[in-house]
Amino acid sequence: MNAVTIPIRAASAGGCSDAPVLRERGQHEVFCGLTGIIWLHRKIQDAFFLVVGSRTCAHLIQSAAGVMIFAEPRFATAIIDERDLAGLADANSELDRVVQQLLARRPEIKLLFLVGSCPSEVIKLDLARAASRLSTTFSPSVRVLNYSGSGIETTFTQGEDACLASMVPGLPASAPNAPDELLVVGALADVVEDQFLRLFKQMGIERVRFFPPRRASDMAPVGPNTRLLLAQPFLADTARALQARGATLLPAPFPLGVEGTTLWLQAAARAFGISELALDAAVAPATLRAKAALARARLALEGKSIFFFPDSQLEIPLARFLARELGMHLLEVGTPYLHRQNLAQELALLPEGTFLSEGQHVEKQLERCRAAQPDIVVCGLGLANPLESEGLTTKWAIELVFTPIQGFDQAADLAELFTRPLVRRMRLAA
Ligand code: SF4
Repeated sequence: MNAVTIPIRAASAGGCSDAPVLRERGQHEVFCGLTGIIWLHRKIQDAFFLVVGSRTCAHLIQSAAGVMIFAEPRFATAIIDERDLAGLADANSELDRVVQQLLARRPEIKLLFLVGSCPSEVIKLDLARAASRLSTTFSPSVRVLNYSGSGIETTFTQGEDACLASMVPGLPASAPNAPDELLVVGALADVVEDQFLRLFKQMGIERVRFFPPRRASDMAPVGPNTRLLLAQPFLADTARALQARGATLLPAPFPLGVEGTTLWLQAAARAFGISELALDAAVAPATLRAKAALARARLALEGKSIFFFPDSQLEIPLARFLARELGMHLLEVGTPYLHRQNLAQELALLPEGTFLSEGQHVEKQLERCRAAQPDIVVCGLGLANPLESEGLTTKWAIELVFTPIQGFDQAADLAELFTRPLVRRMRLAA
């Protein structure tokens, strides 16, 4: 078996670790945190997400979910609007009634999330109190939790962070002196989870859990023996809550591309005393496959320029992958929030001099984008159509969140998400 060379640059500061960041505040074009329900309801199979919101919220999640593949979807909206303060008692009993009906009709639900939104009628409702009241009523068969997906408090992927953080207080405590256990944090497609589980086993790490779990009854215990490996860059609150329960965060880049995945696994290997040799042996076949597939994508992407509008918080890891493994030229990398601690390893790998921006003033950013004339723009749905009509090629950021892109076997699929719009544009131009 061929050994692979594992890059070690992430351990040292460099790249964009201390790079200046343009901070902008102004009008922004980003989805709210309700969007996370679209992938979370597929992940936790016995959970249900009840959005307490308006018709706008119902419309958003229905259209973001696209065509429903489930006869019985695991989310719904309780429409609480057109009520004044005097109607609050009614709103609470209405909510209790909706939950009662739902749980009677869907006995398979074991975990119910009440998801807050931004209409003022909803903000006046105390959803934490409602969740605890309903939890007592339906205990022990159903746990009821709450979090906010409101557009005032959350953007897009922050909904997942809020959802996972709401589950942390309910995680069981690990037994005293329990052996070290790896907890991979962040919703991943089942197929990706299974691949990682196999790799960890081949490396010699047997005790691995994933959070969120596939079933509500399978909550990982947490405590000082827990080693956290973040699979997504947008989980700052969840990581903090788990650390407050005694867990230790393993600094690592995110598992995008061959390099990111290798360094991510390497962080786990080091924490569990696994030798470089054992790591190399476990990852070599998948690495070779992925590198061969990426070489083909590189032919289409090398030297092409890319501009990121802030959207999913995946921008920095994606930019690192596209620049280092595919030779793309980064014109601007915008992100809604730049969490320096969780992204330290990523920033160290970004090419020096990369233009970073945090937050958004959409008009100013559009001006910069038009002036730069990138080969491809990564942005939200709201910006994609106008930019396409101006002749720019776009990639919807939301697709990058919905598609399995982590790990070795998905590296080429991830690259293809960027080659496809370029090829389509070339065909249109021909
Ligand atoms: Fe709109 Fe707020 Fe509902 Fe999101 S939570 S869909 S931003 S009203």
